[in-house]
Amino acid sequence: MPRFAHTLSDGLEIAIDLKRSAKKNLILRPIDSRCVSINVPPFLSAARLQKWLSENEALLHRTLAKTPVRPTSDLAEKPEWIWYHGFQTALTDAPQTAITLRPSEILVPQKSWPQQQTHLRRFLHERAAEYLLPRLARHAEAMDMPPAATALSNAKTFWGVCRHRTGIRLNWRLVGAPEFVADYVCVHELCHLPHPDHSTKFWALVNRHTPHTEAAKVWLKAHGRELFVLG
Ligand SMILES: [Zn+2]
Repeated sequence: MPRFAHTLSDGLEIAIDLKRSAKKNLILRPIDSRCVSINVPPFLSAARLQKWLSENEALLHRTLAKTPVRPTSDLAEKPEWIWYHGFQTALTDAPQTAITLRPSEILVPQKSWPQQQTHLRRFLHERAAEYLLPRLARHAEAMDMPPAATALSNAKTFWGVCRHRTGIRLNWRLVGAPEFVADYVCVHELCHLPHPDHSTKFWALVNRHTPHTEAAKVWLKAHGRELFVLG
């Protein structure tokens, strides 16, 4: 059963298990929060499948969301480093009670890894509020497109979401991403205010407001998964 990587237009990389079956329709099933299986008719071409995937992103997101939430502890042990603002930042045990941020190092109070993980998540969530929400507000003002509200999200399946009535929510894990990636996600979600789809007009608007679309997609494809290292 071939498995291949597919990048959604929001930059999230998912895995797709492809099965050929005699059925006429495509059948989508959740595997986990980053993987779906698709039964496709025997002679569906790769190009048709790609077209179907790009036209059915909402369905893909809904299917991914049906899977059980992944356990918060993804790692049994402390990783040597995590992404912070696009830099690989070392995690170092230190005999102190508060987490301390240094240019290329985060000092973490000596505790068990699950306790450190909880502490780090809370710390990074606070930093995310400082890093992402003012950035989103600046872009909204520059583009003259104020969302109804802004907040952080803990989603497992998207980097940002935009709804007319509830506004924009950005995944707190983007605190690990470089500034140009954070900028791209802000612009992407703001451009959904006039264009809820991923149409040509939508992308033209995104590209008018950021030169980083391609580079940001490449970065998220290469490293997006690593931003989930704390669960
Ligand atoms: Zn989008």
